[in-house]
Amino acid sequence: KKQMSEFYLITNELKEALKNHELVLFYQPKIDIITNRVYGAEGLIRWNHPKRGLLTPFHFIPYAEKSNLITQIDRYVLKQAFFTLQKWENIDYLKDLNLAINISANEFRQRDFVLNLKNLLEEYKIDPSKLEIEITDTLSMQDIGYTVTVLEEVKSLGFKIALDDFGTGYSSLNYLKKLPFDTLKIDQSFVRDLENDNDDLTITKMIVQIAKVLNKTPVAEGVENEVILKIVRDLGCELVQGYYFAKPLPVFEFQKLLR
Ligand code: C2E
Ligand code: CA
Ligand code: CA
Repeated sequence: KKQMSEFYLITNELKEALKNHELVLFYQPKIDIITNRVYGAEGLIRWNHPKRGLLTPFHFIPYAEKSNLITQIDRYVLKQAFFTLQKWENIDYLKDLNLAINISANEFRQRDFVLNLKNLLEEYKIDPSKLEIEITDTLSMQDIGYTVTVLEEVKSLGFKIALDDFGTGYSSLNYLKKLPFDTLKIDQSFVRDLENDNDDLTITKMIVQIAKVLNKTPVAEGVENEVILKIVRDLGCELVQGYYFAKPLPVFEFQKLLR
């Protein structure tokens, strides 16, 4: 009973939050460690809750996924991403940045998912190759044929696709072969302990190699210190994300950092 009332409370508050613009995107830099430049950012949602303060996705995304609110959140995030990229294209030190956002399985399966992307592209006229859509392989599991078709449409519009949290869930080598994606994000759970755990080291090394053989860009996330940074660099990973460089930041702080 307690769980049910919590669910109703949070989903009701979330509906209000969507109306009142309490949901905001934070931006975490993605670093190219060959050139030592910021390559782009990942947009990560936060809820500026009127009573509870700033909430991370852990506190509300699971509820949103159980209701159908997640698709509204994802649409909001998508629109925000187009808006941001359009703004960045006019600012000298931001104009080359790539922006990645997370899309849930529910949103991906909406019949008008691709149509919505097309409409946004017409409205905002950004360079689509700067927008990367991150999906998880849990999503691709469900209906591989449909997933491939949608991803191909998304790619033909010019957008980039990343396979997120690789190595957890249902990660299948068969999907690696079939899915048309550009970036392979190595799950944090392997990266976090690279300095102490030999198995994690071996697994990460393999994932980087698989990505390279398949012509995909490996990205290591969860890089928290210099030791881990050195290890992923030695393994041949060129793009990294993690607290060592920066946490997800409000847009103004992110832009200030870039400046
Ligand atoms: P994710 O897509 O795997 O995002 C990476 C998470 O790792 C983020 O957590 C980020 O803040 C955190 N992180 C980055 N660097 C480090 C590090 O060095 N150390 C540690 N310990 N953590 C690091 P966050 O922002 O709490 O997001 C959690 C998850 O919520 C995301 O995982 C993603 O699955 C989901 N999410 C976030 N934003 C959205 C969104 O707009 N839409 C949807 N559908 N899901 C989202
Ligand atoms: Ca992600
Ligand atoms: Ca991830």
